[in-house]
Amino acid sequence: MSRSAHPAGPRYADVLPEGHYSAPPADLNALDPKVWARTVGRDEHGVLTVGGIDVKQLAEEFGTPAYILDEADFRARARAWRTAFGSDADVFYAGKAFLSRAVVRWLHEEGLNLDVCSGGELATALSAGMPADRIAFHGNNKSPAEIERAVRAGVGRIVLDSFQEIVRVAHIAQSLGKRQRVQIRITVGVEAHTHEFIATAHEDQKFGIPLAGGQAAEAVRRALQLDGLEVIGIHSHIGSQIFDMSGFEVAAHRVVGLLREIRDEHGIELPEIDLGGGLGIAYTSDDDPREPHEIAKALTEIVTRECEAARLSTPRISVEPGRAIVGPTAFTLYEVGTVKPLEGLRTYVSVDGGMSDNIRTALYDAEYSVALASRSSDAEPMLCRVVGKHCESGDIVVRDAFLPGDLAPGDLIAVPATGAYCRSMASNYNHVPRPPVVVVDGGGARVIVRRETEEDLLRLDVG
Ligand SMILES: *Cc1c(COP(=O)(O)O)cnc(C)c1O
Repeated sequence: MSRSAHPAGPRYADVLPEGHYSAPPADLNALDPKVWARTVGRDEHGVLTVGGIDVKQLAEEFGTPAYILDEADFRARARAWRTAFGSDADVFYAGKAFLSRAVVRWLHEEGLNLDVCSGGELATALSAGMPADRIAFHGNNKSPAEIERAVRAGVGRIVLDSFQEIVRVAHIAQSLGKRQRVQIRITVGVEAHTHEFIATAHEDQKFGIPLAGGQAAEAVRRALQLDGLEVIGIHSHIGSQIFDMSGFEVAAHRVVGLLREIRDEHGIELPEIDLGGGLGIAYTSDDDPREPHEIAKALTEIVTRECEAARLSTPRISVEPGRAIVGPTAFTLYEVGTVKPLEGLRTYVSVDGGMSDNIRTALYDAEYSVALASRSSDAEPMLCRVVGKHCESGDIVVRDAFLPGDLAPGDLIAVPATGAYCRSMASNYNHVPRPPVVVVDGGGARVIVRRETEEDLLRLDVG
């Protein structure tokens, strides 16, 4: 590996640039199991391995950048959710986090259901053999063609998001001689993101029908009158990357309040409630996510308690984790191209990908961690910003992290917890082809989504 000479990077102790970082970890070679996929470790030479395969071998065979996904970990997490909720509840994996045909097959085999929110996601699910009745169809603006396809396929539920959609789906189902099972998505006035939640005024968003002002009750009233629809329940999704269960508590209280109103007005008890997804994962060692069995226990207790108080029989619960299943199972492997120390600030480490394979840092100010992967190092920690190769100064992958001071071009670095919302949000900005998804499983590696090529890009350019 070539190591070009460069001035020593600024030492963390000498500089205090603004940023979200704490002191460097005691051991830069250590891999916190909270943020890395389960089978990740280092071999006797210090090279990062996953499923028993070292990353130098993966880089050689599949190139960089690449998303490396640990199948055993994905299956274990899916199974943990399934087992935690047992047979009285349904787990729908949120396909938007990352979807491919292999993923659909794993979900099917592990007994999970699947959320889709576009014709493309539906096509992927059906083409990989997910039974239609285990698919839920979401979205705030499903096209009539998408709705027709979903109804014809026989999806288990369509989650209705507006008054117009209630009528639209009813009409399409009726014209096909079907009665479509539906849930009505409401906004309960709770918005939760990571550590805090806000329980006022968050009806101001595009999803769902507000509970406030009786609008959700009116939506149920209208849907119950339409022959094309079978209203099976109420849906609420309050946010993402949530650690605190109190937002779910308020949401469940309000959803159950609506179920009670529906019973009082129409004399029916809707059989299902869906509490959405949004459970947080560890992107850095500072995050402390809950285990699926704790989440299942908390949610089941909240719903049971609220229903007892309202003298309703407890409905069947469903949940929709996306990130919490796939997020921790993958890391992105990059090759370092340049290392640029800025005296008194930090060292910019440029990698061969960037915002085209991980937009979350630019989009949400997301935090990630990073490790030197192709070797271990005893060099002093150096405060770094890992940036991509795109033409934007906001093209940042990891805002602030420590890497060894001897980092050099040609080194491989890995960014953990990139399984969710990275490949699924990837773009071709700057005509950079999107990286492959490589699955590692019990000593073997295979591509499940291949790398895009320049020919792929040019094929669409028909001018
Ligand atoms: C995005 C979304 C999810 C999944 O969210 P995660 O944060 O990935 O768990 C679940 N349900 C709905 C309706 C969503 O929009």
